[in-house]
Amino acid sequence: MPETPVPAAQTDVLIIGGGPCGLMLAIELARRGVRASLVDDKPGTAFNPQANATQARTMEHFRRLGFADEVRALGMPEDFPTDVAYFTRYAGHEAARFSLPSARQARQQVAQLGGSWSAAELPHRVSQKFVEPVLHRHASGTPGVALHNGWRLLSFVDDGTQVLSQLERVADGRRCTVRSAYLVGADGARSTVRQQLGWSYTGESGVQRDFMGGRMVALYLRAPTFYRVVPHAPAWMNVSFNAERRAFMAAVDGRGEFAFHTQLRPHEREQDLSVDGAKALFQAAVGAELPVELLSRGTWTAGHCLVAERFQQGRVFIGGDAAHLFTPTGGLGYNTAVDDAVNLGWKLAAVLRGQARAALLQTYELERRPLAVRNTGYARGFADSLGLFAPEPGLEDDSADGAARRQRAGAYLAEHGRREFNIPGITFGGRCDGSPAIVSDGSTPPPDAADRYTPSACPGGRAPHLWLGEGLSLYDRFGFDWTLLQLGAGDTRPWQVAAQRRSLPLTVLPLPGDEARSLYGADLALIRPDQVVAWRGPADADPGPVLRQLLDLPGLANAPSTAP
Ligand SMILES: Cc1cc2nc3c(=O)[nH]c(=O)nc-3n(C[C@H](O)[C@H](O)[C@H](O)COP(=O)(O)OP(=O)(O)OC[C@H]3O[C@@H](n4cnc5c(N)ncnc54)[C@H](O)[C@@H]3O)c2cc1C
Repeated sequence: MPETPVPAAQTDVLIIGGGPCGLMLAIELARRGVRASLVDDKPGTAFNPQANATQARTMEHFRRLGFADEVRALGMPEDFPTDVAYFTRYAGHEAARFSLPSARQARQQVAQLGGSWSAAELPHRVSQKFVEPVLHRHASGTPGVALHNGWRLLSFVDDGTQVLSQLERVADGRRCTVRSAYLVGADGARSTVRQQLGWSYTGESGVQRDFMGGRMVALYLRAPTFYRVVPHAPAWMNVSFNAERRAFMAAVDGRGEFAFHTQLRPHEREQDLSVDGAKALFQAAVGAELPVELLSRGTWTAGHCLVAERFQQGRVFIGGDAAHLFTPTGGLGYNTAVDDAVNLGWKLAAVLRGQARAALLQTYELERRPLAVRNTGYARGFADSLGLFAPEPGLEDDSADGAARRQRAGAYLAEHGRREFNIPGITFGGRCDGSPAIVSDGSTPPPDAADRYTPSACPGGRAPHLWLGEGLSLYDRFGFDWTLLQLGAGDTRPWQVAAQRRSLPLTVLPLPGDEARSLYGADLALIRPDQVVAWRGPADADPGPVLRQLLDLPGLANAPSTAP
């Protein structure tokens, strides 16, 4: 990707950071006709694998935007099992395995699933390095959006009517100023935007655990003979569990490329680790001296459970890792970053297009911050469950005692694997109860549980999913912005008129049949652009007060205004 020329002097939304959060936000804005510029200090998208799991809810968003199939075709071959497997060493004993479908099976199985897994898409195990170019392509292919790689944000000033941002071209130090109505910092853990606002992360960091709590070494490597040397069935996630040193490793392409992560002991220093020393860490986890090519290496810290104290001030927002930092157990960081972008995208567009008062933007922090606290908490629990369960000495012994130890460890790890990787409740069950951008009907939301999602149209949660026919999801029929589900008899014209008056794009979707009516528990259900149930009620409900509450937010002060 060549470096782009100087960004335009004025835009509606300036996005800092071209990771999943920034790119997804650019797409959400562009699809709604909002002008946006995105700058990222790297020359292109991520080279390193980074995140390994795209959760089902993220895949549903990719489907809404029209590129879920494109993403599902990436990463490992479509028949490669996405199992999570636990070994003493990869070429040693297999202790436990949680079997998960290949990409092809996921596509076939999703339509047969119900209950917790009633969904338009199942998860896809794919490295972030493959997803980012898809997002980049879709963002850059949309009129109104300009992507500028090789540019960094230096500083900004929010003067109350606009944001003035100082940018610098990384290659030659050339500077420019961009005026925008809004600025979004999707600029990762070291966020310039968050730091300039003086916001700290709150929560826990530096937690020490036997594993997944300390300084980690990340190796992106190629080991072409791995699948010949290792006598076990292939898996997507490979965890090595022995008393010497533990590791986790995601298959990147299913052909010999891996993202390998292991923890340094307290006395070990990353700067002392040579290339051969790094390769030896991987070979020790395999338990064989197979050839290995190091593609890149880095270090990171496991043990964070952090959420920024604020997500918005005036015309400036933060999202993704800039706003929350996870220990990657459960694979939630990038997915939470995508959800932030989805939530903020439609709200910025609605305000900029004059459909809603600027007060709507305050609901971004009100809705997303509690979910960041929830999700980082779940990830922390998984890190404790895996990291505090220490291997017994003698686990690798070829003896009856060794076998008994492996059986005990395997029973625990199998149970842990199910807990960490079967998480429909986390991915589908996030809610916005209490948000002013939701009209409560007084019903009680289902309980929050990691492994259980209870479909419910109680306003504030994901719209319950339904298959309408072969391969046709209810979500495929939703409008791109607002959708009114007509689940019984009645006249929906007052809703269309009220929406037109506000220039609000509203798709009315008649859904005859008992199944949909009983799933939604009302004659009408109004679905927000992020597929969250905003309101439900009887056929003769007056749309006026409902839309006023959702878009005028009478309970919130209306700052800032929209004009740049
Ligand atoms: C080992 C590991 C495994 C992981 N596995 C998973 C997983 O399975 N699932 C999951 O959901 N998450 C996982 N994550 C987390 C995931 O990688 C991050 O949460 C995700 O990348 C966050 O996306 P983002 O867009 O917020 O930030 P980033 O991806 O960090 O993007 C921020 C961008 O902003 C740019 N930038 C920074 N400052 C500036 C500036 N001043 N000017 C211009 N540009 C700037 C950066 O170069 C970067 O490109 C994992 C993380 C690790 C370390």
